[in-house]
Amino acid sequence: MQFFYKCSECGREFEIKPDLMVCPACSKKQELNKPLRGILEVDFELQDEDNPEKFNVLDFLPVRAKFFPPIPVGNTPLWRPVNLRKILGFSNLFLKDDTLNPTGSLKDRASYLVAAFAKEHGIKDVVIASTGNAASSMAGVGAAQGLNITIFVPVSAPKAKIIQSLQYGARVIPVDGNYDRAYDLSLEYSKITGSLSRNTAYNPLTIEGKKTVSIEIFKQLGRVPDYIFVPVGDGVILGGVYKGFRDLKRLGLADTIPVVYAIQAEGSDAICKAFENGSFEPINARTVADSISVNIPRNGYYAIKQLKDFGGKCVKVNDGEILEAQKLLASTTGLFAEPAASASLAGFIKVKDTLNRDSVVVLLITGNGLKDIDAAKRRLEFPQRAIRNIEEIVR
Ligand SMILES: *Cc1c(COP(=O)(O)O)cnc(C)c1O
Repeated sequence: MQFFYKCSECGREFEIKPDLMVCPACSKKQELNKPLRGILEVDFELQDEDNPEKFNVLDFLPVRAKFFPPIPVGNTPLWRPVNLRKILGFSNLFLKDDTLNPTGSLKDRASYLVAAFAKEHGIKDVVIASTGNAASSMAGVGAAQGLNITIFVPVSAPKAKIIQSLQYGARVIPVDGNYDRAYDLSLEYSKITGSLSRNTAYNPLTIEGKKTVSIEIFKQLGRVPDYIFVPVGDGVILGGVYKGFRDLKRLGLADTIPVVYAIQAEGSDAICKAFENGSFEPINARTVADSISVNIPRNGYYAIKQLKDFGGKCVKVNDGEILEAQKLLASTTGLFAEPAASASLAGFIKVKDTLNRDSVVVLLITGNGLKDIDAAKRRLEFPQRAIRNIEEIVR
């Protein structure tokens, strides 16, 4: 395949190059405190020698296989949660378990492609702002590729995610401010130092890299699911999920696009709000699900366009529902997901009575629960009293 960038707004085409991140024309329309303008999408033309039926997952991506780092990203299991199926009454419910990526989140899919791209272009330094998972992901996947990773994180990011990044050898710069502030500072840093930005949505390869989750789901199921539930913060995973199914359809491999449910936390609902009202208003995000806590969803315009074009839906869940879903998931399936990742299940529980019980439903489980034990602890009774002998608990 021959790959190039295409502006998601004006349709202009560009060569894929390290110093091109957003459409030079449409990004001029960027407004303060609004989602990114001029998001670039990876587009392709089939070549005579291409046979999509024979494509491996990496053949769908715009960097050749030999440049990818030696670390097993993706290929995560799609499995049948038997107990949960019984409890919820859906016999074709599946979990796509992306907690099993090397650094414990779906973000590895984007880092994997960015790391490959860096290698292809002889780039050594990569910088990223993140609430935690994208940072620790770039740090880990970057370590496998031998890259120098600089990370801007809000001071409030969960400790485990920062410790992960430090273990992987990244340079961690805590920011006295929120994610949005870290985002802006990291962009300034990348302009000053010339390092490659892996900021989500801004680097087009972050959307493209995440599409592999859809290609895997399609191959694993042998069909397109009826519904897929996706937790949404910046809307990049959502965009990637759509991009994967769109590519499959364009290549004649799949014949439909699934109905995508975008799940947001009530306290961080910028995309759902804009989906209803048509415009993005500044919000002050507050939710236990830190990975989907976002004031300005960077991929907002693009995400809404996909939802509108393909009949997607937006559903909000509150923190109580998220933590309950987290507990239900862990205690019935053995899969311990972080709060943001549990939002998929919370959203599904909320709308399931409106869906046909035979539907093929996939819940995207995006991140591991151990990444944020403070959040997980909130709904648990932590055993307080230590025993000295067995009689204290057994009569
Ligand atoms: C980043 C992330 C999300 C949300 O992805 P966006 O692209 O920001 O919408 C959901 N769950 C987890 C675990 C994440 O790390």
